[in-house]
Amino acid sequence: MQAASYVLSVGMEVHAELLTKTKMFCRCPNEFGGEPNTRVCPVCLGLPGSLPVINRPAVEHVLRTALALNCRIAMRSVFHRKNYFYPDLPKAYQISQYGETNPLGHSGYMDFFTEDGGERRVRIRRVHLEEDTGKLMHLPGRKSGVDFNRAGVPLMEIVTDYPPDIHSPQEALDYSYQLRLLLIYLGACDGKMEEGSLRCEPNVSIAPEGHQELGTKTELKNLSSFRAVQSGIRHEAERMRHALERGDTLKQETRGWDEENEKSYVMRVKEFEDDYRYFPDPDLPPMVFSEEYIEGLRAALPELPTAKRKRFMEDLGLSDYDARLLLAGPAWARFFEEAVAQGGDPKQVCNWMNGDFSHLLNEAGRTAEASKVTPAHIADLTGLIASGKISGRIGKEVFEHVFQTGRMPSDVVKEEGKEQITDAGSIREVVSEVLSQNPEAVGKYREGKKGVHGFLVGQVMRKTEGMANPEMVNRLVTEELER
Ligand SMILES: [Zn+2]
Repeated sequence: MQAASYVLSVGMEVHAELLTKTKMFCRCPNEFGGEPNTRVCPVCLGLPGSLPVINRPAVEHVLRTALALNCRIAMRSVFHRKNYFYPDLPKAYQISQYGETNPLGHSGYMDFFTEDGGERRVRIRRVHLEEDTGKLMHLPGRKSGVDFNRAGVPLMEIVTDYPPDIHSPQEALDYSYQLRLLLIYLGACDGKMEEGSLRCEPNVSIAPEGHQELGTKTELKNLSSFRAVQSGIRHEAERMRHALERGDTLKQETRGWDEENEKSYVMRVKEFEDDYRYFPDPDLPPMVFSEEYIEGLRAALPELPTAKRKRFMEDLGLSDYDARLLLAGPAWARFFEEAVAQGGDPKQVCNWMNGDFSHLLNEAGRTAEASKVTPAHIADLTGLIASGKISGRIGKEVFEHVFQTGRMPSDVVKEEGKEQITDAGSIREVVSEVLSQNPEAVGKYREGKKGVHGFLVGQVMRKTEGMANPEMVNRLVTEELER
């Protein structure tokens, strides 16, 4: 019997901790790590009698993200209580948002580039605001503890639409990559997957090709890198396919990803749909927005990564690959744009940034902002090369010097005598000298062994300590040989 082929469907739920000074409903600082239970108060501990107050910057982060994801905005939106019992949830309910059109944003989409340079659109079902839970900790002696520092941290949830638009592990990765970049450009989230401030939770199902209905899904958790998102989904699809081919029935379950062993494991089997008994939180007033306020937020959005990438490619002539590298972080992209604004040729600036500069930064374990190189340095350097003052090879030497000292490339060139020799007369002199010192090579050339040309050029470059303009040397050696 021939193996049936299956279609993979992936819905994405992404949780992003928002970059605010304080927690969602209290004044406790919103920070990562630290001694357990040092950033807690009656509100985020859910003590009786405490009252929550809405954090306005958190709401604004969600609204701006929803606008950037082309969502409709709920002009009146309420918080609900999601009731369930778990040790990391001291109130026994989580403040969240329920409903189709009640979440701050709904019915949107995100366009993004795929790895192969294509464009895709994934529909967004909702973008809502909730609070994070505490964190269970496993202690020595088979004991467990709870750290509530994270309880009440503002959390945004972004959910893709149903039925899913994503059908491969690579697409899931491309989507997650682009969404993370968007959140970082918006300043909504720091995107640190390894610290859990951005958590991608795909739900995965497979169905035989041609089937309308989707298969039983599993929800994957603990994916702490893009690589894990991709390999977790791939593994899960394979596991399901094997099970179906064996004739097993799949269970709807939540599975954790064990990155080290590349395996998923059962966390929780869903026997029936959870009943969270959602109801509007009576302690929190509805959020009501005016048209002007929302339009003001929309107008103040920064240029978003997809638009920027398009502009870098279409207006500045960069390749898809180059543009992707430059966009890897807002500061890096800003550096590039400033160097271009100061007169640097876009393609050259890009080459220096993605080449030597990246390389030296990696070696030094530094970011561009923490280095001595500014956009003005790169613009100056590319100008020196474009005008023929120095060769690209000397440029590399000069740049290393600039990287260490922070001096301007033009100053280094002037003071260290790095200027390229472009005077035809003096180059011709050296060429004649080299030819008269190498009569054998000249003889071979004239017998038709043109290969010695390169050797003679090399000799001239050596004599000038690499300072002669290489194209001129090339041309003048030919001229002298052909005399
Ligand atoms: Zn608190």
